[in-house]
Amino acid sequence: MAVTTPNPLAEVRLRTQMFAGGDFVDAVSGRTYPVENPANGQTIAEVAEGGVEDVDRAVEAARRAAPGWAATPPADRKKLLQRFADLIDENSEELARIETLDVGKPISDTRSLDIPDSAATIRWHAEATDKLYDQVAPTGPGAVAMVVREPLGVVGAIVPWNYPLQMAAWKLGPILATGNAVVMKPAQVTSLSLLRVAELGAEAGLPDGVLNVVTGPGSVVGTAIARHPGIDGVAFTGSTEVGRTVLEHSARTNLKRVALELGGKSPQIVMADAANLDRVADRVANAIFWNMGENCSAGSRLLVDRRVKGPLLDRLVGLVERDWIVGDPMNDTTRVGPLITKSHMEKVLGYIDAGRAEGARTVVGGGRVREDSGGWFVSPTIFDRATNEMRIAREEIFGPVLSVIEFEGEDEAIAIANDTDYGLAASLYTENVRTAHRMARAIKAGVVGVNNYSEGDLTTPFGGFRQSGFGGHDKSVHAHDQYTNLKTIWIDMGE
Ligand code: NAD
Repeated sequence: MAVTTPNPLAEVRLRTQMFAGGDFVDAVSGRTYPVENPANGQTIAEVAEGGVEDVDRAVEAARRAAPGWAATPPADRKKLLQRFADLIDENSEELARIETLDVGKPISDTRSLDIPDSAATIRWHAEATDKLYDQVAPTGPGAVAMVVREPLGVVGAIVPWNYPLQMAAWKLGPILATGNAVVMKPAQVTSLSLLRVAELGAEAGLPDGVLNVVTGPGSVVGTAIARHPGIDGVAFTGSTEVGRTVLEHSARTNLKRVALELGGKSPQIVMADAANLDRVADRVANAIFWNMGENCSAGSRLLVDRRVKGPLLDRLVGLVERDWIVGDPMNDTTRVGPLITKSHMEKVLGYIDAGRAEGARTVVGGGRVREDSGGWFVSPTIFDRATNEMRIAREEIFGPVLSVIEFEGEDEAIAIANDTDYGLAASLYTENVRTAHRMARAIKAGVVGVNNYSEGDLTTPFGGFRQSGFGGHDKSVHAHDQYTNLKTIWIDMGE
């Protein structure tokens, strides 16, 4: 079933059924649920509401497809996946509109980042497919020992709503490149771009059952994936709380391999010798307000040496007032769209109330805006005089809220930076290369950016420490490890 949306700004074909065994299918129960545009609260589609039996159907299709896909020569898998990436690029304008309609991300971001990065990710892993070699061990002459990688079989992938297609692509690329079949579960509120991309995968020639998508509530579909005996590994990106339950389900069922990419409360540290405060302010603002702060690696704690706090804060407030325009995400000039749902907006506003109640001071923003639109907009907000003990500095807000905390000297900066349950990302601004090296090593986080806020690119792994997750990495060839088993084949040479 293909539906053309009435929105004249968005000439898009929305796929609203699930994708299993190469076909779009209704939920076995026949049930659907509404999906809304967060910019105006209006329903844009009714999407199939999956249940346990829909996961069973997708897993059966994936199990049938997995042996053939694993046996496909790597060079052929590469060509198919490259074609898949090309089709995403060829349909990028439509996909960007779908993503903006469904998630509320500014169209300039979905055009320049979400969709091109998704295609590039699949292409990058496709290109690695026939370039990675296995190993021959240094044995004596009496034996030949090979250390080879084999696909797990069927992988379940559960992804969040903040970068629906990009997070899916970070999984799809290495899962498919290493010869696994996949059952993907997008977040309940953001299935539309992945469903359209599944159709493009079929058009590229992916065999039926290699890529399946089951839509529906996480508590039902996600749980069924995490518990399914026919799934060999699960890659989960989402909150720490749900990641914990995925791990429990695996432990209580078939001990499927689990890779967790979870939340964060990442510090941005500005030392007194940081050069060019205009540029630092620009990067600090990007790190927290990009994607409305709905970002696992959002730099939500600004730790700043008290000697430069005043001038940096002035610049940040100026930037928010001038550049971080809240508006209709379909407008090219909008930089801040709505939050994903009404309940998420209320959660973020609750944190803003908590920050005030605990004694922090809002220097810009601090509330809901554009209420007349019917959408879920919150203005970029900066809290001065925060301390690391406050809830706004400890809990993941997942919204455009920055907590500014003063420090004096390197040791205090590191102590505050590491005083968190998380360890996903961090950034550090200093002109002194020794300080940079020492502090980058001392910060407990999976990615540390020096004089920038960077997660690196496709060539580098992304993943967290502590309660930000473990079990694997997204991006780079390290991503292949979590979707393959290492096997030793020891051949006696009879000598
Ligand atoms: P979430 O944990 O609520 O949901 C993530 C996914 O899990 C969704 O598909 C959801 O439907 C599903 N799910 C929900 N309940 C489930 C259950 N009981 N069992 C199995 N699956 C279930 O997270 P979210 O609100 O969609 O996304 C925001 C979170 O994701 C934030 O904490 C953010 O930091 C994190 N995130 C992490 C990364 C990373 O790479 N580390 C990237 C993006 C987002």
